[in-house]
Amino acid sequence: MPYEFRTDPKLVDMYIGLNSDFFDGKLPTIPIGWAKMKTGDESCRAFTHYDEPLAIVFNVALRKLYRSCETHLAFTLLHEMLHVKLADAHRRGAKPHGRLFEKEMLRVLNNRKIKDIF
Ligand SMILES: [Zn+2]
Repeated sequence: MPYEFRTDPKLVDMYIGLNSDFFDGKLPTIPIGWAKMKTGDESCRAFTHYDEPLAIVFNVALRKLYRSCETHLAFTLLHEMLHVKLADAHRRGAKPHGRLFEKEMLRVLNNRKIKDIF
């Protein structure tokens, strides 16, 4: 893990809810929190590289923005959760936002529970 970060229980709760609603609860339990990112424009990242433990890190510089918009936060987290689901594929060389990702994204967006986030 390239970042020192503190796990945020609120983000973990949100992850557990989204995992249940959109992934049948099958995604692994992983650390999720806030960290000072190396580049200021990066909002969030899922760490799925083979030599890293899975984790999702939000840029603490954007904490106020995320706190003011739960929908934005939920959609960003869902995006990163797709990377977690596809971690093995990413590790085998699948493009981060390639066809597999797109297929998963459309599956999530077609789930009726997506309307609860809007
Ligand atoms: Zn992505």
